[in-house]
Amino acid sequence: MTAVEPPLSRPAPASAPVPPLASRARSVGGSPVRDILAVTARPEVINFAGGLPAPELFDAAGIAAAYQAVLTGTPAQALQYSTTEGEPRLRAALAARTTARGLATDADDILVTTGSQQALSLLATALLEPGDTVLVENPCYLAALQAFAFTGARVLPVPGDADGVDPAALEELVVGERPKLLYTVPTFQNPTGRTMPAARRAAVAAVAARHGLWIVEDDPYGELRFEGERVPWIAAHPGAEDRTVLLGSFSKVMAPGLRLGWLRAPQELRRACAVAKQAADLHTPTVNQLAAARYLADQDLDAHVSRVARVYGERRDAMLAGLADALPDGSTWNRPEGGMFLWARLPDSYDTAALLPEVVREDVAYVPGAPFHAGAPDSATLRLCFVTETPDRIREGLRRLGRGLRP
Ligand code: PMP
Repeated sequence: MTAVEPPLSRPAPASAPVPPLASRARSVGGSPVRDILAVTARPEVINFAGGLPAPELFDAAGIAAAYQAVLTGTPAQALQYSTTEGEPRLRAALAARTTARGLATDADDILVTTGSQQALSLLATALLEPGDTVLVENPCYLAALQAFAFTGARVLPVPGDADGVDPAALEELVVGERPKLLYTVPTFQNPTGRTMPAARRAAVAAVAARHGLWIVEDDPYGELRFEGERVPWIAAHPGAEDRTVLLGSFSKVMAPGLRLGWLRAPQELRRACAVAKQAADLHTPTVNQLAAARYLADQDLDAHVSRVARVYGERRDAMLAGLADALPDGSTWNRPEGGMFLWARLPDSYDTAALLPEVVREDVAYVPGAPFHAGAPDSATLRLCFVTETPDRIREGLRRLGRGLRP
């Protein structure tokens, strides 16, 4: 007798729900900028939204030659695990570039990171307890707000103006709220494009020195200057040297796909960031680090960046020339001397988030300003990236924007 086969379809066992996500994963929302990037991937959309460097200006040949050289010359090293702190050759080159720009730096002062975005996460892990206070610019770079939110920190905006945070307001908040750190993008800020003048940098450094405060100075755009004079880093100001973390990135000057950034920080904090990085990704890809070091040795990055900056200046001018016709009467905007973004404000009655679907229907996109605000959002603001498109496409994009915004 054959054994009786069990029926093939049994009732499914009762299934209990899986445990919930961590509260931090539930409370931190996705970036609206990244959602908009999905829309702008359609080729017919003229993209003033994403912070995308102009792809036709990537030095693809130079970068390919650097990869070729390290993969054929030192493949066993390029394809191997590496140290968490970063490849010595790249750290030395980054230290030399930083020193040449007025801030004496040793290779050991630098931790290579997987984009400067990772530096923000590492600093948040190393410095912030739930409930700690972080001060930010208002408006502020979105993914920094996300990195701080993940730690459960309280994020407070510092009042400011077209020159950045107001040092007197900063001092009042530092005394009253005892924050751990101030996060700032002093040069060609994301999202506004504004730059903090030297005197204000000195005042911010003095507040940090007087009251005890970390300053996180994020500078991915500073080299993209097409007008005016370079302003020294906050990190180079007296009083700030031992309490400023300077973040740099190759994303906007070489290519963002390399995911190469770095932080320069005092020893104890840098060490804590390196331990956090061990847990995050062990190290930044060796082949990318060695290729970048090779690129710096074989090519003239500064010459490349000046070419890129000149083109970006032309694109800013193309955008400035068309804005008055595209935006409703009563709108205002700024005129950045470098970087990738400008910031506009429409009259009070406009809500740029509500209007975006109308605008995208015309095949053009911007980023609404509200999500960049850590405090009360200003719904009439928007960020325009002027570097991704050519001047002709910028002119056409502004015509479409004008149509999309027309009541
Ligand atoms: N900081 C700021 C102010 C940025 O705008 C960006 C990128 N948009 C980053 C950091 C992160 O850049 P990455 O990780 O590519 O170096």
